[in-house]
Amino acid sequence: MAKHIFYCAGCKEYTMKQLCPKCKEKTAERKPAKFSPEDKYGQYRREVKAAQRKIEGLI
Ligand SMILES: [Zn+2]
Repeated sequence: MAKHIFYCAGCKEYTMKQLCPKCKEKTAERKPAKFSPEDKYGQYRREVKAAQRKIEGLI
């Protein structure tokens, strides 16, 4: 089961909450992209993985 990652466009921060802990704005869910042979979303997946590591490091 994948974790839900949310993104605050205002703070440019990832969070696991639906409301940004900084500005209390609603965040947008970011779902990890499915694998594509073209690796169109490779950059995006790396970005999400880095954010997940960052969040897990805070727990
Ligand atoms: Zn925010």
